[in-house]
Amino acid sequence: MNTFYEWLKASNYAGFKIDQARLKRASDIRFTAQPNFEFTSGEYVLKTTLNTYTVLWEITPRGDDAVIRPSCTCPDWADRGRYTNTLCKHLLSAALQNDNLFAAVINLKPVSADIVFPAKE
Ligand SMILES: [Zn+2]
Repeated sequence: MNTFYEWLKASNYAGFKIDQARLKRASDIRFTAQPNFEFTSGEYVLKTTLNTYTVLWEITPRGDDAVIRPSCTCPDWADRGRYTNTLCKHLLSAALQNDNLFAAVINLKPVSADIVFPAKE
């Protein structure tokens, strides 16, 4: 297990849904640099920019859990993904290509943030 994606998968994706077509497109995206992964203000933050979209995975340690909060500025996430818990290809791509998980996180169990997804207007 050496990618963020594999870490999520080992815990049934922390409740997030994986769409196979998006996963395929995500695996075709090539980064010019590894997503940035850092600890800041009590959170681990995996951040990158893809096609001008800002892709963020925020991870907050809580006991044995790691509370996961994904976000992306693309229309797929804004209009659909965040309402249905379905990860967009940018979030998947960042997770697939990050092989720099911190030891502090890898032994925690990823769980979805306790948020109520907003009803689509
Ligand atoms: Zn996206």
